Amino acid sequence: MGQTVDPFFVPGVDDEDTVRRRRALVRSIERDARGDRPVIHAMLSVPRHAFVPPYWYFRAYEDGPLTIGHGQTISQPAVVAMMTFALRPEPHHTILEVGTGSGYQAAVLSRLVKRVETVEIIEPLAVTAAETLRSLGYDNVRVHVGDGYDAVKDAAPFDGIIVTAAPERVPEGLLAQLRDGGRMVLPVGPEFGIQELIVLRRRGNDIERKSIAPVRFVPMVKKDGTAR
Ligand code: SAH
Repeated sequence: MGQTVDPFFVPGVDDEDTVRRRRALVRSIERDARGDRPVIHAMLSVPRHAFVPPYWYFRAYEDGPLTIGHGQTISQPAVVAMMTFALRPEPHHTILEVGTGSGYQAAVLSRLVKRVETVEIIEPLAVTAAETLRSLGYDNVRVHVGDGYDAVKDAAPFDGIIVTAAPERVPEGLLAQLRDGGRMVLPVGPEFGIQELIVLRRRGNDIERKSIAPVRFVPMVKKDGTAR
């Protein structure tokens, strides 16, 4: 008798336990993704445990951030769900992500859009993320090392921009690289103060702004490590 294989099982990466725990996690945060099937399927398909250091495997399917070294963190799954939905990704989109970190958010987005350009300022994190993404076959993601503050200009304008580190103010240089009608999702606010997750939408020369939720992100920094 053949057993039913979970369609989200990743051969060579998952075992029964990891898929089962991923399903439970994603079910618990469906509301944060506003019940959006494509976003939910993308999160079911990405093995989050492959993006964290091995000593965190046992917590990879809890709804919390985890440390990934260099003082940085992989975002909380509920926040990834919220930000991914807020971006309103479409299959023909090219998305810019600032703050690659582990590569997890980029992997989730890669299942929903045509291409993801992601920038990370800490080189060893970019190298590890690129290697993880490559080994898992996410070949529509390109990892860049650098300061994402002014974006990856050769690929601009973008259909959407997602920033996963918090600048104190909205980076105008990034807004300038957003296509008309496109959305930019980012946390803004001081490192140790109140940050809010916002969505900005370009309408010609106008920018609409909507606030989604209070959040806590690592700061967006300059090359010397000081806050942006
Ligand atoms: N999206 C990540 C979470 C990132 S944490 C994930 O899914 O794992 C935020 C990341 O932003 C950190 O890795 C930090 O080094 C990076 N970062 C901070 N300032 C930056 C900047 N100016 N340009 C690019 N990356 C930056």
